[in-house]
Amino acid sequence: MAQLSDDCFAHGGRLMRVDEARKLLAETISPVTSGEPVELHHALGRILAEDLVSPVDIPPAPNSAVDGYAVFHADLDPEKDTRLPVIGRVTAGQRDLPAARRGTAIRIFTGARLPPGPQGAGPDTVMMQEDCAEDGDPEAPWVVIKPGIKKGANARKAGEDVIKGSTVLSHGQRLRPQDVGQAAAVGRREVTVSTRLKVGLFSTGDELREPGTPLEAGAIYDSNRYTIHALLTGLGCAVDDLGILPDRLDVVQQALDAAKGRHDLLVTSGGVSVGEEDHVKAAVEALGKLHLWRLAVKPGRPIALGQVGRIPFVGLPGNPVAVVVTFLTIVRPLILRLMGGRDVPPHTFRVRAGFDHKKKKDRREWLRARLVGDTSGGLTAEKFPHEGAGILSSLVAADGLIELPEDLTRLEAGAMVDFLPFSEVAQ
Ligand code: AMP
Ligand code: MG
Repeated sequence: MAQLSDDCFAHGGRLMRVDEARKLLAETISPVTSGEPVELHHALGRILAEDLVSPVDIPPAPNSAVDGYAVFHADLDPEKDTRLPVIGRVTAGQRDLPAARRGTAIRIFTGARLPPGPQGAGPDTVMMQEDCAEDGDPEAPWVVIKPGIKKGANARKAGEDVIKGSTVLSHGQRLRPQDVGQAAAVGRREVTVSTRLKVGLFSTGDELREPGTPLEAGAIYDSNRYTIHALLTGLGCAVDDLGILPDRLDVVQQALDAAKGRHDLLVTSGGVSVGEEDHVKAAVEALGKLHLWRLAVKPGRPIALGQVGRIPFVGLPGNPVAVVVTFLTIVRPLILRLMGGRDVPPHTFRVRAGFDHKKKKDRREWLRARLVGDTSGGLTAEKFPHEGAGILSSLVAADGLIELPEDLTRLEAGAMVDFLPFSEVAQ
């Protein structure tokens, strides 16, 4: 396994803008995974670890885009109907083709190869069957073609989709359903993808209980571990759920130390603020290096980034909303980079704000929002009324996050804003 450079998360403790944090990750994080072959049915969502070059033209030969009649355009009368004898028939997949001749038509079906003609130059145009009439003896039919069809109509050219030798998918891209299909279209049964990042995941906090067990006074169910597990799995990581750690330095330290040999990345939530019971920070410092990244964002608390031995470590905040926002904005790009992914920034979409909002200058703010159709046929983003960083149900009610830039201080209803749908990032 490749290793990160020593102390790759060092930054000097300043307040960091999001762009600066992402730039630092881009500069310092290199892939730690290797490549493995997977069958196409298991390739969805994986990161491609090769450039996929097509050994074939697609389509391999000129063929028809419709059911109809293949003709030589030069035989057609531009002003009136043309009547041609039908001298052959070609279906999709047919190996032996009839020879076409000038002044004739060939019955042809979608996907069937255009037949050869004199000196190799065959019919160049296909008339759709709906626009033709057959007449004459069914044993020796003729077809009547209306005037006006363009030369080359409904005829697909060899290589018009993919040219042999071209790169159809590139190293570092995450495979979507159509990408998997593209690999199949060029004849691959398997592709080489990055091995799954092995992530060890803990929650920390004396108040946390496992869902499904009774709750005594003062306790809450651990939700973060489930949210983070789902986010990691969605990114293609192999997640090892290591349970809940108590607020005890020795236990946290021992657990992280024991986990480091079996994982590519360790992730915790909770216990990284500056409270007396926040022991994660001290435990990681004792085992390696730790930097608190104070991001100029809301919602957000410091996110701890470091190394346990040589293994990268991420300490997420405890508040459920801060967990999701920091994961999507910082941890997601970090993980994609560790897996050799090209860190394609997620697309945001311009929508109308359905509310006024004031914000502090010089920090980026994300608001939980729901999209509703408006009278102009566009989409308006409605803000969730509770902004507390602990309100998980606000994320459940939201379709995504409105991203307000650092320099903005006042948003007026009706202004256009950037909207990041969860569907872009929570997978
Ligand atoms: P902490 O960062 O440990 O001080 O936690 C901040 C807040 O997040 C507290 O209200 C915790 O109870 C809550 N919290 C921490 N971890 C979790 C978790 N795994 N699931 C749900 N809430 C949590
Ligand atoms: Mg705690």
